[in-house]
Amino acid sequence: MRFLKADKVFDGLVFLEPETVIVIDQTGCIIDVVACEKVANQAIERIEGIICPGFVNAHCHLELSHLERSIPQKIGLVNFALAVIQTRQALPEPEQLQAMERADAAMYSKGIVAVGDISNTTLSASIKAKSKLYYHTFIELIGLNPTRTEGAFEAGLNVLEAFQKSNVSASLAPHAPYSTSTTLMDKMAQYNAAQNQVSSIHNQECEAENIFLKGEASAFEKLYSTLNIPIDWFKPTATSSFQYYAPHLNANVPQLLVHNTFMSAVDAELAAQLNTRFCFCPKANLYIENTLPHFSNFRLDTFCVGTDSLASNKQLDVLEEVNELLANTSISVEQALRAITSNGASALQCHNQFGFIKSGFKPGLNVIQEQHHQLRFIKKWC
Ligand SMILES: [Zn+2]
Repeated sequence: MRFLKADKVFDGLVFLEPETVIVIDQTGCIIDVVACEKVANQAIERIEGIICPGFVNAHCHLELSHLERSIPQKIGLVNFALAVIQTRQALPEPEQLQAMERADAAMYSKGIVAVGDISNTTLSASIKAKSKLYYHTFIELIGLNPTRTEGAFEAGLNVLEAFQKSNVSASLAPHAPYSTSTTLMDKMAQYNAAQNQVSSIHNQECEAENIFLKGEASAFEKLYSTLNIPIDWFKPTATSSFQYYAPHLNANVPQLLVHNTFMSAVDAELAAQLNTRFCFCPKANLYIENTLPHFSNFRLDTFCVGTDSLASNKQLDVLEEVNELLANTSISVEQALRAITSNGASALQCHNQFGFIKSGFKPGLNVIQEQHHQLRFIKKWC
């Protein structure tokens, strides 16, 4: 057994009393959290800085790791999406797999223990199965035309089965409101509800998305015409993208709303009354749209954080993401740390294993430091 005492202990929810000692076994399992006076002084290992649970990256795309630094910054979501579609198959599969392995190892080295990862194919399954990280995979389905519902759903189930066979936790998720029909959303939600599973959607990542779902001319016409997909039949009349699909959110499926860059206060309030949780990826928003969400529109009590992919971020490091939030909002260090520990674990429904320093848990332990309202990673303790 080892007895750890740091300058500060963050247990996933709050900072504990300064004289707290964490008792762990040789596997990193938390045996107890006790007051300092209950432990013989010479047995205590002293740590400079803050000790906290391993981090959760609630939104990533491991499959796009080989696109690192290949897509120009600040070109807007439609141009970004077209660049991803046009370049993602440029490298052969073995090189794509190598890039995924590097990204997985980089996340581990930055103290990440659990990841919510979007996948369109089965390619990442073998890496996730042998990774030191816990992955929940959101199998992402696309199909704006309702006639594609059955085909897209069946294909999605096949990918889902492949992940489940590899013992990787997985569920179905619509890509985005501008790319997935509400019929397909309903079918996925019904399936996820029956499986007791969480889902995810890219929400209001650009202003054009709100305009498109009002039925007005937007940059999405360029996306669909470039892809030779006719959309003249599509006549939405929603007030906003979120209000377009909100009636199709299933109350029994916890829904992760990712990005929320162009979400109004009205929509954020509406979402807060539903079974949803906000996930922010500020570095990706700056990379693609050169903007940040209006954080003052949100109740920042249960939000979590993701890195998005290496196609839209220079690194997969959730501490960099919360530093962006600490610099641009009035959130506290406790709120920031909750986002990348307990809130992230709850969002991915792995809060029985991760996100908390609690006896019986093996959450991974990180040492970090705070200076000038910014957090710095020191090392993984275990
Ligand atoms: Zn994404």
